[in-house]
Amino acid sequence: MALLPSLVEFTQFEGVDRAVPRSEWLDLIDEPLPQVGAGSEEVLQLLNDVVIKRGLRTGHPGFSGWVTTTPTTMGVVADLAQTVASAQRWWIHPGNHVDSMAVEWMIELLGFPKTFVGQFTSGGSTANLVGLGAARQHAGERIGIDVAHDGVSSIPSPRIYTSVQVHHVMGRSLGVLGLGRANVRAIPLAANRRIDLDVLRSTLERDVEAGATPIAIVGNAGDVNTGMVDPLGPMAALAREFGVWFHVDGAYGGFGILDERVRDLYGNPGDYDSFAVDPHKWLAAPVGTGLAICRDGDLLGRSFGVETGAYDREREHLDFEQREPESPWESTGRGTPDWGVDFSTPSRGIAVWAILKEIGAAGVRDRIVRHNDCARLVADRSSASEELELMASPELSITCFRYRPEGLSGTDLDEFNEQILQELRRRGESLPSGTWLDDGFAIRPCFINPRSGLDDAARLVDDVIEIGRILSGG
Ligand SMILES: *Cc1c(COP(=O)(O)O)cnc(C)c1O
Repeated sequence: MALLPSLVEFTQFEGVDRAVPRSEWLDLIDEPLPQVGAGSEEVLQLLNDVVIKRGLRTGHPGFSGWVTTTPTTMGVVADLAQTVASAQRWWIHPGNHVDSMAVEWMIELLGFPKTFVGQFTSGGSTANLVGLGAARQHAGERIGIDVAHDGVSSIPSPRIYTSVQVHHVMGRSLGVLGLGRANVRAIPLAANRRIDLDVLRSTLERDVEAGATPIAIVGNAGDVNTGMVDPLGPMAALAREFGVWFHVDGAYGGFGILDERVRDLYGNPGDYDSFAVDPHKWLAAPVGTGLAICRDGDLLGRSFGVETGAYDREREHLDFEQREPESPWESTGRGTPDWGVDFSTPSRGIAVWAILKEIGAAGVRDRIVRHNDCARLVADRSSASEELELMASPELSITCFRYRPEGLSGTDLDEFNEQILQELRRRGESLPSGTWLDDGFAIRPCFINPRSGLDDAARLVDDVIEIGRILSGG
């Protein structure tokens, strides 16, 4: 049984994207632990017939529902190559070098100074955790506490400042780091839907006066609801003024900096202290690929470093500038497990390297601009149409809009648009998602899918209008 033909067919994403009813596959795979192995042929058959053929088609060109997507072929094959041939990130092999290079390329691509360091992570959640871990260490050291060694309990009233739009994984990071979810100062949005800088400043001032310890200001570079970017330049300046760490969550929107039209929103990345970005979102790397970038590798090492075990004392002796290692088993290669939370880890950066090598910085830039254009197309057509309403104009590649039948408002209008979304999903051709804004329920396409273009965005608008007319009896 060869899986390749099915995988190739799957990635053509032909036909509509109708969900396969669970009843069609559940019984084929749901069983207790086998006491006796079924053998590889039967497993391959199940992989082929069930896992692949009934798989999740987030790469369908009409799919604009999420901030993640199906990887492009290069990402898939590079990931397979690394699983087989380079799965131990830290030792001396080409994959180790390539992973470190991919970090450097990303740092350059996103406009950070070369002195910044980075580490691929399992996703945006862990990339944010790494940034906030560095922030915690930084805040402790300012008052003479080594938090990684002595614990957080000696930090008086830790506080984290971010807008109400912050991604919910941030709360979990604060829980894990012992900083406490309850210690977030959720700053309201100003009229422009970005963090209110005046409230941020006055909250900081009040807390400092009361003897609290500001740990970090967290900026959003593209919130997942509407794609808004906080005023990152002024926030960085404020952080500097108060001596507070400035972390930016660009898990989804970090790549937006490549579009000249919105470049200024990001301020100067060299003014950030740490940054989270997800190559498994806009770069379409395999899911499981985040990246944490940080100003200070030494601080990261003090935050996350592992004590050397008796069995890996060799790690202390590496110095390949001076001499060629005699074997790959002798010592570790480039990069260090001290900058993140994993020890044994895949060389996730191989897929990022392969994608960047394949399409270049220009290819990434073109994709970002095209997707931002898709969001603008939906917005322009919503504004121009009597039947549609633009609910949040795009900053990056997300647009929020709805169909507006005459005479409907409030919850009726919300329900109407939820029905449109249901019908879109039933048809399986245009697949956005929905969200709730202050004005109610919105249809929300987020264009990051490398297989989607302007035609797919236009098609979505046509489909919404067509379904809206049918449902309103027009
Ligand atoms: C996706 C996302 C996260 C979480 O990242 P994962 O890769 O899902 O772990 C955090 N913040 C933002 C802004 C995101 O878009």
